[in-house]
Amino acid sequence: MKPSHIEHLGIAVAKLDDVIPFYEKLLGTKCYSIEEVADQKVRTAFLKVGQTKIELLEPTSEDSPIAKYLEKNPRGGVHHVAYCVENVQEALDEAAAEGWQLIDKAPRKGAEGLNIAFLHPKSTHGVLTELCEYPK
Ligand code: ZN
Repeated sequence: MKPSHIEHLGIAVAKLDDVIPFYEKLLGTKCYSIEEVADQKVRTAFLKVGQTKIELLEPTSEDSPIAKYLEKNPRGGVHHVAYCVENVQEALDEAAAEGWQLIDKAPRKGAEGLNIAFLHPKSTHGVLTELCEYPK
């Protein structure tokens, strides 16, 4: 599969507004984008550290996957790790050939127009793993 880098870390938070100032201080940079991803029932905020992004995720609905994560982890925490690959579909095919469980069988649109897909934590030693591809 050989991803080029960690595209972003997804961090679950209860309220973006409470957390953005902390990350702006920690990383010495401003949040450069806030975007709602209706499909995933989240609002996202992005900051950059080198070529890697920090994606803060706030639930927009009680049945959001982030709301479920926060029920188990009320203080928030690292929700997923996203790797940048050349081609998400090819990476999914490779993962399937390894017998890994896929959450998405085909790529879909994520924040910032990336093509994304998730691998199930059952097959990734407990870490929700996202594969991302920049649109061409
Ligand atoms: Zn993500």
